[in-house]
Amino acid sequence: MRTVSLGVLLTFLLAGLALASGGSAKMSPQEALKEVIQHNDRFVREHKAEDFSAYQTAQHPILTLVTCSDARVQTEALLPEAIDRVFAIRNIGNQVGNSQGSVDYGILHLHTPILLILGHTHCGAVKAAMGDYSGETPGIIAELDHLHLPLSRGPKEGDFEKRWLQNVEENVHYQVKQALRAYKEKVAHGELVIVGAVYDFINAYGKGFGRVVIIDVNGEKDSAKIRAHQVMSLLSENLKAVCTK
Ligand SMILES: [Zn+2]
Repeated sequence: MRTVSLGVLLTFLLAGLALASGGSAKMSPQEALKEVIQHNDRFVREHKAEDFSAYQTAQHPILTLVTCSDARVQTEALLPEAIDRVFAIRNIGNQVGNSQGSVDYGILHLHTPILLILGHTHCGAVKAAMGDYSGETPGIIAELDHLHLPLSRGPKEGDFEKRWLQNVEENVHYQVKQALRAYKEKVAHGELVIVGAVYDFINAYGKGFGRVVIIDVNGEKDSAKIRAHQVMSLLSENLKAVCTK
């Protein structure tokens, strides 16, 4: 019994290590496709035609989301059912400039009241941009270059974990700034609020594993001022405290 438990534990540890270093789960293409198609088949059988009727001809998102492509960051952490609710744009490092047209579509055509720019702890794109990525593909270099500019001003020495998180935050602030420039009129008219946040699956902020921590609202970075912002007015004091720094 003891041997089995240790074996299982070791398997989990090794799987965790592979994922942490950027590896992928060991799976053949046919196994991966089977998992997807089988899940989709369950999805089809579990839903009725009426479930799709509300959005046959139009979408109704409440949120334009710019987040990282990282597999550990998913909309389940934001809403129980993201279908027809989240207009999602994803790229490495949750960048606005790389996907400006898609962000424009969510803000200017779908008129979502919130643009959420969501970075995350242990972001591989931010980590890569902190070092030498000249050996990467031209595509990756072109995307990371958008991160490197703001990050290059950050400290080069000191505790790496701290600097990594600091750069994740700096990148979120930078992307909010870009968005503010693009949608300043909508923000000025109160039709749009740009929220910058960090999805924290390592509990770096001590607010709970999986917490969305808001660090920027329309360019305001001060936590007390964020908590006092109109956009937070429907949240309880307890929620205000846990979702900010
Ligand atoms: Zn990332």
